[in-house]
Amino acid sequence: MTTRPDRAPADPRAPLSSLTSGELGDFLTAKQAEYAALRRRGLKLDLTRGKPSAAQLDLSDRLLLLPTTTTDRAGADVRNYGGLEGLPELCELFAELLWVEPGQVICGGNSSLTMMHDTLVHLLLHGGPDSPRPWAQEEKVTFICPVPGYDRHFSMLANFGIEMVTVPMHEDGPDVAAVEALVTNDPSVKGIWIVPTYANPSGAVCSQEVAAALVAMPTAAPDFRILWDNAYAFHHLSEVEAKSADVLTLAAASGHPNRPIMFASTSKITFAGAGVAVMAASAENKAWFLKHLAMGSIGPDKVNHLRHVEFFGSADGLRAHMRRHRDILAPKFAAVGEALTAALAGLGVAEWTHPTGGYFVSLDVLDGTATRVVALAKEAGIALTPAGSSFPLGRDPRDRNIRLAPTFPVLAEVETAMAGVATCVALAAAEQLSAGR
Ligand code: PMP
Repeated sequence: MTTRPDRAPADPRAPLSSLTSGELGDFLTAKQAEYAALRRRGLKLDLTRGKPSAAQLDLSDRLLLLPTTTTDRAGADVRNYGGLEGLPELCELFAELLWVEPGQVICGGNSSLTMMHDTLVHLLLHGGPDSPRPWAQEEKVTFICPVPGYDRHFSMLANFGIEMVTVPMHEDGPDVAAVEALVTNDPSVKGIWIVPTYANPSGAVCSQEVAAALVAMPTAAPDFRILWDNAYAFHHLSEVEAKSADVLTLAAASGHPNRPIMFASTSKITFAGAGVAVMAASAENKAWFLKHLAMGSIGPDKVNHLRHVEFFGSADGLRAHMRRHRDILAPKFAAVGEALTAALAGLGVAEWTHPTGGYFVSLDVLDGTATRVVALAKEAGIALTPAGSSFPLGRDPRDRNIRLAPTFPVLAEVETAMAGVATCVALAAAEQLSAGR
């Protein structure tokens, strides 16, 4: 323990671990009083899920009046069956936005998660075009999960009995050396999840270099897949707009065209429950997916496809629409950073991300206190995502990560909730450090 007898009262900006026992005791007492006052407010706030707010949904209400016609540009009646790949004009729009060829795109229903799920189901039951056998016939199937990551990716794998191994997610994407060490000799390692742009929850952006390395690396499994979930490709929070890596082009150029499968959707662009989902892949992967899709569908909701084409008008129309989202969201993300900085900067008990896009802030608190912080917040009426949710099976080995989702509440609620969360973080840290003295 470091003693600093010359400083009294405690400097709230000094690292908590450097305080004397007396100073730490004072800090703990102050935070307990702050927390008691917080509880007395009887708040009821929710920072759990990354949902668009009502104001964001309102931006797309014109959709409810569209489409204005019943035929696509080729004259086909969108009200009827058919067109399994999706409306060609919508496929073109997404191709331009995602830097892929229109012929590589499939537009589907309202959920990209469903397309990811279908992809895994088909791989398990039938195998991919380059699989020696269906994945379900392998003794073991293992997936690489960059952490922190998206909880639904992990629960989907767990539901299929797929083993999960973690690698660190860095600011420029998954740790390439750690991934290479896993894939080189073990043919059970069949895939990896990547949220390449403004990752859930860290906001990391996968660089062109990392993407190039991942598509080029030798893998023991001949049918290794990168499930490239570009859910936040256009969700910029500032004028510096990250461009997603050209993963399909890079993969084709390095001789592994079937390795990546790209997904995106308008869930956080138009209506989360009534948008359109899209995937893009090599010609072989696309034909493979459509063959299996045809067993369960005669065609997608092309009325919704056309509605979206009319609504955006063009790729630039979508980009302009995203700037309107940005105007609503940027102040909320700024409020998260400001509240955490105001209460915690310098204390050495928390670190957080400063995303330039996406839907989340990833908060790392003092090791071993994340569960306590979430419980304290809950008692004070602030709902947070359960500690550990950004890790496979909900197990954060260091019990330190908390995913903050500031998009849904109004700004004033984000400010109040985050000030409260910061109190809980400081209190839990002071409790733990005091107990260790
Ligand atoms: N991928 C990621 C990374 C997400 O964060 C989300 C929504 N939270 C989704 C997919 C869900 O996408 P969809 O609504 O298209 O199913």
